[in-house]
Amino acid sequence: MKARWRNSLGALLAVVALGVTVLVAVLLIRTYTLAEFKRVRLGKGAPAAELSQGEREQLIEALKGAIRIPTVSFSETEQNTTALAEFGQYIRKVFPLVFSSSLIQHEVVGGYSHLFTVRGSDSNLQPYMLLAHFDVVPATPEGWEVPPFSGEELNGYIYGRGTIDDKNCVIGILQALEFLLKRGYKPRRSFYIGFGHDEEISGSYGAMKIVETLQSRGIKLLFLVDEGLAVLDGVIQGTRRPIAL
Ligand SMILES: [Zn+2]
Repeated sequence: MKARWRNSLGALLAVVALGVTVLVAVLLIRTYTLAEFKRVRLGKGAPAAELSQGEREQLIEALKGAIRIPTVSFSETEQNTTALAEFGQYIRKVFPLVFSSSLIQHEVVGGYSHLFTVRGSDSNLQPYMLLAHFDVVPATPEGWEVPPFSGEELNGYIYGRGTIDDKNCVIGILQALEFLLKRGYKPRRSFYIGFGHDEEISGSYGAMKIVETLQSRGIKLLFLVDEGLAVLDGVIQGTRRPIAL
């Protein structure tokens, strides 16, 4: 009994230690990354090399255009709904294959959020889901190298509110799907994509409605990938390499 008790205590301490580590990491990141939350680096790595020059430019322009739509959540009760609607029109225009593919069903949920169902060829495989949000917190021009909704490029970076929280994920997912469809992609496993319009103010009308929609259809997900953080390089004290969070 004693050994088992000791094991339980050990496990408990390990959980507490992990919790503290995560908390400290979050605090460090919050402290050291405020400046970093304004820009995203233009990648030069291998995945981009598989894109043509034209596609690479397309990808960059798609993100810049998304940054220029000020989808601001000001408070629990105030959002720029004109911009939220405009964003919906924008993605329809920029990703025509996603919106015309016979494999994909698109729905607007909760007024402005988006739910995509991508049908795989094997219905025995449990579906997964990718999530992101396209509303942003307010930004005034003070303290910015370029206006926060300009999507301008400066020294190899795209600047703007939403570049790494979280229009990068929205555009990344849609652009990947668009390029894959262009190459004849047909997934075996079905998946869902959800883009919320009110994540910064709790997600009551976006994420919650998407959940209700999926639940009402009896859908059970294998796994779900949501917003994380950027690859941080030289931001967290004591680290010498880029860290993906
Ligand atoms: Zn976010």
